[in-house]
Amino acid sequence: ICRRLAGRTAVVTGAGSGIGLASARRLASEGAHVVCGDVDESRGKAAAEETGGTFVRADVTDPEQVETLFETAYDTYGSVDIAFNNAGISPPDDDSILETGLEAWKRVQEVNLTSVYLCCKAAIPYMRRQGRGSIINTASFVARMGAATSQISYTASKGGVLAMSRELGVQFAREGIRVNALCPGPVNTPLLRELFAKDPERAARRLVHIPVGRFAEAEEIAAAVAFLASDDSSFVNATDFLVDGGISGA
Ligand code: NAD
Repeated sequence: ICRRLAGRTAVVTGAGSGIGLASARRLASEGAHVVCGDVDESRGKAAAEETGGTFVRADVTDPEQVETLFETAYDTYGSVDIAFNNAGISPPDDDSILETGLEAWKRVQEVNLTSVYLCCKAAIPYMRRQGRGSIINTASFVARMGAATSQISYTASKGGVLAMSRELGVQFAREGIRVNALCPGPVNTPLLRELFAKDPERAARRLVHIPVGRFAEAEEIAAAVAFLASDDSSFVNATDFLVDGGISGA
């Protein structure tokens, strides 16, 4: 692995588990200073220790904690070059439109969508001053296709992430800031395993639709994150960056 991110500072939300953890590891291995944000203190701290980075306990739904997260990155390392806005939660148990309650709907929008708004709002002023930055917002392949899994609040939140990323990528391109939505297919993480444990048939149904015939490993998503974070993707902006084993193309 090359050190194409040497000297860069990356903020990662949800860094304590799954895609966030694998990405924190990968970004650090490519030379970045990693600021690990998570609401879970023990997992976030462990991620920071392992990557030689800094832990900030930040609930991404709290504007002040989000501000502190990015401020800490700047104060500690002198720049905010990469924002991987990734923290999110899975759908509520029955997320069909006829069953899901308003409170459950609002909670998903808050954690999955409003959080990305808050993180972008906090990151962009630093990136503007630097005239450089890469923002990667975790959406999902479900934002691109009807997944027939009745995940109405989850899918809507991810559609919002995708549209917001495109909008910001267009708006700030001339200022050297790229914004991309990362759209993973199903990834073997605690989030997915929990979902499938509740509904084992769902796993089998899902697997049938993945052309490569398996779920992704978090490291495979992290490799795309590192690419989008680096100058190797200097002409990649405002995209829905699919890393889904062909699921949305099938
Ligand atoms: P995960 O549950 O393994 O990790 C999520 C992390 O986010 C956890 O460490 C958790 O503590 C943290 N978190 C949750 N709520 C938070 C909050 N309010 N503030 C700060 N941190 C919070 O999940 P994952 O599978 O790695 O998912 C990461 C992202 O990828 C999510 O946005 C998810 O929707 C998305 N995604 C996952 C898959 C998949 O199949 N696993 C597919 C597409 C998209």
